[in-house]
Amino acid sequence: MNKDKKVYKLCPKLPDPFDCSKGIPNLLTDAHYYFKTEILNASDLIYHNKKIELLKYINKLYPWEESFDHLVTKSYFDVRVFSEERMATLPWLKYILKHCVDSDCPYMNIYQEDENICILCQKVFYYIILKKKKRKKGYSLITAYPKTAKEYYNIATEKQKELVKEQELVKERKLVR
Ligand SMILES: [Zn+2]
Repeated sequence: MNKDKKVYKLCPKLPDPFDCSKGIPNLLTDAHYYFKTEILNASDLIYHNKKIELLKYINKLYPWEESFDHLVTKSYFDVRVFSEERMATLPWLKYILKHCVDSDCPYMNIYQEDENICILCQKVFYYIILKKKKRKKGYSLITAYPKTAKEYYNIATEKQKELVKEQELVKERKLVR
């Protein structure tokens, strides 16, 4: 076995999502506090030993950073709307990067799509999209979000659908709505 490789037997336990029943204003407060303290200036937000950079400038419409906006809103008929699910699952971003990528987490599916690197946790259908920087070393965070089981199922390949059925991932998904 490669000694340098971090070994985790199974993906242990994702952090609990924030409580969605608190309503969007409270969720936003929780998610933004988490973003500022755990993500924005984190030195350990890395992919393959290279730093993941964020868009730190303040968004035009709201008093928070552009990357945070990408993380907590989703596109709905050309408008960005708040997504409770995205806010609530924000802690999964760092957890998956830290504990699942570069480990032998059985749920990791990492693939290239055009210029983007897609990191998918098949346990909870959480996507992290990165882009390799052209000139500088490192990566940019494009976004990260959970797909609903149904959305995931619709786009899954036949093989992935079998996997979903076999592992009953749909049932396992414990996200509070
Ligand atoms: Zn994992």
